[in-house]
Parts: sequence; structure tokens; C-alpha cells
Amino acid sequence: MDPVDFIVVGGGISGLVAATALKANGRRVLLLEAGPRLGGMAWTYFNDMYACEAGPGLLCLANPAAEEFLRNFGFLSTVNHVNRYASKRYVCQGGRAVEIPASLPGILKTGMISWGAKLALFKEYSAERSFDPDETVAAFVQRRFGAECLEQAVDPLLRSVFFGEPEKLCAQHAIPWLWRIQNESGGIVCSILKRGVRSFFERKFINWTGGFSELVSGLDTTLKPDAQVGQPVESIRRIDGGYEVRTQGGAYQSARVVVATDAGTAGRLLSPLLSTAGDLQLISRASVAVVHLCFRRAAVKHDLEGMGLFIGRSQGLRTQSVLFASSVRPGAAPAGHVLLSARVGGTRHADVLQMKNEALVKLVFQELMGPLQIHEGPVNYSVVRWPGSIPQYERDYDRVETVCETVEKECEGIHLLGNYRGGLWVDDCIGNAYLLAKRLMGAG
Ligand SMILES: Cc1cc2nc3c(=O)[nH]c(=O)nc-3n(C[C@H](O)[C@H](O)[C@H](O)COP(=O)(O)OP(=O)(O)OC[C@H]3O[C@@H](n4cnc5c(N)ncnc54)[C@H](O)[C@@H]3O)c2cc1C
Repeated sequence: MDPVDFIVVGGGISGLVAATALKANGRRVLLLEAGPRLGGMAWTYFNDMYACEAGPGLLCLANPAAEEFLRNFGFLSTVNHVNRYASKRYVCQGGRAVEIPASLPGILKTGMISWGAKLALFKEYSAERSFDPDETVAAFVQRRFGAECLEQAVDPLLRSVFFGEPEKLCAQHAIPWLWRIQNESGGIVCSILKRGVRSFFERKFINWTGGFSELVSGLDTTLKPDAQVGQPVESIRRIDGGYEVRTQGGAYQSARVVVATDAGTAGRLLSPLLSTAGDLQLISRASVAVVHLCFRRAAVKHDLEGMGLFIGRSQGLRTQSVLFASSVRPGAAPAGHVLLSARVGGTRHADVLQMKNEALVKLVFQELMGPLQIHEGPVNYSVVRWPGSIPQYERDYDRVETVCETVEKECEGIHLLGNYRGGLWVDDCIGNAYLLAKRLMGAG
């Protein structure tokens, strides 16, 4: 095969977006994906009549470059806007689902936190700013909002994204928008109240009727025939004028290689080129299983009008959060039925990934029966496991960025993308990939 302009290793959302943007601008691209399908964690599959999201269920459109990419490539014209549900979320408290208040009167009235904690919220503007780049989420939230707010609100919400511990995650990188507000305006609560609590919760949440696979197959259509699946890259080595990328199926050459895999694989593939790259294998990661439970509508008393249920560590459950999948994506369940997507495990309970499907389903069902008032077992279920999939943006995160920059500087033509760098959310993966592709096109 003739050398191409770019080889992209990894066909998750990050690699797909970079490859699509490069190809659309006339570059010759070859994408090599290890798995049997494209999309990585972004994957919608059917279990009987239920359309299950194996990984991400919602895209929060907060990254301008992601929005630009999705608009330019026609993916925004077909989306569902799910803000109506996004502003309504529940936390689990004492075996019940309690609505998170999304207005000032709501905060005053809620029984979710004590009067002492409400007072701490309103005094938050007077908390000192922190410029410690390593401050943890726990220290940041306790300093500004108090310990109760950490346990009852922030921990459950954070757990649904990172599946990790606030004492380890770095505030600047794990909750960048709160960190930014602190630095720009001081008072986070005042700033949120000024914009409206509801609008804070209702950032633009979207998905597609066909799920994330609709986005993936749209990208695949643009890329065809230049994306190959079932091609795990085994090595990358320097050759005259660039790199040779080797799979079992053959060897491919290019002056530029975009490595868009998980951090561990990137570290393994690149450490023969530069030993520093091996440090990427040290990033700690959380494991998570997604348990899809399908019920008859009448079996669930909770109205499920909302985004989902968030469960903090104080509740002692192994389920971390539940997306009300058939509420946020109409059509995900057949008429008269509902679909719940429970995320189980995380850094605390990684052992659940070893459980058999039946045992895992039983565990999740027992944990959710009370809070969601479910009085009959599921009519159908399925389980997906994602071992070591969620990178933890911990205190030494700056080191990750330094390693990536060093690799890109020392190994000219190598570029790194992925959810361990610059944001875990799908919109950050899209935005970062699009910006890299634009930069590379500028570079010729
Ligand atoms: C259960 C779960 C729920 C989530 N929910 C949300 C959500 O609601 N909203 C949100 O925004 N984000 C969510 N996320 C996070 C988000 O899905 C991911 O961060 C994002 O999809 C990562 O995309 P990526 O392309 O960087 O990585 P991946 O999807 O991991 O893609 C990397 C690809 O590289 C391939 N690869 C690995 N090694 C090789 C090799 N040697 N050769 C070739 N290919 C290789 C892999 O097979 C994979 O396809 C969730 C994640 C999980 C696990």
C-alpha cells in the first residue's frame, strides 16, 4: 500500500473525528481499529426491542470546537435535545430518590441538605480562592461549600462521570468549569444564581434517535473505505521520512501518526520510540459495568421524568448512577416498557466486574428497588463491562500533559488524542480531535 498522509490508530470517537476531518480536507487517511466495530465506547446495540447505549448516553454540548464539528458535518440537524430531562435529576438518600433543586426557592425548600449546609452555600462567595493547581475536588468543595454538600451533591454527580474518589481527583481538571468560575468571579453560587440555576443544569444535552451509533455510522460513511476494523496495531517504529505502523495484517507507512487509543496502549506503543511515553501506562483508571434493565412500565412506580438517579458513596451501594434511558431517548424501549441503564463499579467496587451477569443484575435490581419503587423483576437485561476505561484526572494530571507534549516534540509526526487528555466527555474528545485535525491541516 502507498504511504498515506496520516495513519490514525484507534477508531473510537477521538480517532474517528480526527480521521474524518482530515479526509474531508483532502488528506489521504488510514484508520486502524483493533476491535470488530468502530466507535470504541460509543456503541448502541439492540437487546430484543431495547436500544441500549453500552457507553455514553448523553452528549453535553459545552465544547465550542465539538459544536462546530458536529454542525459542519451535519450531525446537529438530527439530534434530540433532552434539556427538559437534564434539569431534573435525583440523588439517592436513605433509600429514596430525592430531586436535586434547580431553582433558588427549590434550594431553600429542599430537605436534601440541612439548613447549616444551605447557609454554607449562601456564604460561599466569601471563601478564599485557591491557586493550588493540585487542590483535590474534596478539598475544593469542602472549602467552598462544606462537607455536607460534598457528600450529598457533588460526590454523587462526580461519581457518575469519573467513577472515582473526590479525595484523589484534581479540581482544576475534573471540574474545570467550577474552577474557572472561582478564578474569574470568585463566588460560584452567586454566578450560578445570576445565570439561573436551571440554565446551569440545562447545558445543551443531546443524543441521537439511533443512539451514539448513529453518529459513529455517519463518520464511518465519510471514511469508507479508509477505516479498517479488526486491525490491532502491534508496533510503531521510525523509518526514513516517518513511521511504520505494524498490524498482523500488514505494515503501513506515513510521515504522521495520530495515536487515539486509551492511555495504556498509547504508552505501550510509543515507549520504544521514547521511554517517557511509558508513563502514560501509569495513569490510574476506573472500571465500570453497565447493566441495562428493562421493565414493564407498570412495574416502576417512579415517574422517571428526569435524567437519572445519582448515588453517592455515603449510601454504601455498588450502583453509581442510573440513566433513565427511555426518558432521555424516546424509542429506546417498546411501548408500555422502560429502560434503565445502571452504571456499577468504579474505583471503589471494581470487584463487581468479576460477578456473573445474573448476580450483577440481581445486585442492581435489589439496590434500585427501593429508590425507584420497582415491584417486579426485569423482563429483559444485558450487561457490558468496561475494565480500566475511565482515566482518573488525579493530582499529577499536569504530568500527563507534559508527557504528551514531550512525546509530540521529540517524535516529530506523532500526535496523541484520547479521553485521558483534555477532557473525558465525548464533546471534549470531539473538540480536541477536531482542533488537532485543523492544526495538522494548517501544517500541510
Ligand atoms: C459506561 C460509560 C458511560 C459514559 N457516559 C458518558 C456520557 O454519558 N457522556 C459523555 O460525554 N461521556 C461518557 N463516557 C465517556 C466517553 O464515552 C469516553 O470518554 C469517550 O467515548 C472516549 O472516546 P475515545 O475515542 O477517546 O476512546 P475509546 O472509545 O476508548 O476508543 C479508543 C479506541 O482505540 C482502539 N484501540 C485500542 N488499542 C488499539 C490498538 N493497539 N490498535 C488499534 N486500535 C486500538 C480501541 O479498540 C477503541 O476503539 C462514558 C464512558 C463509559 C465507559
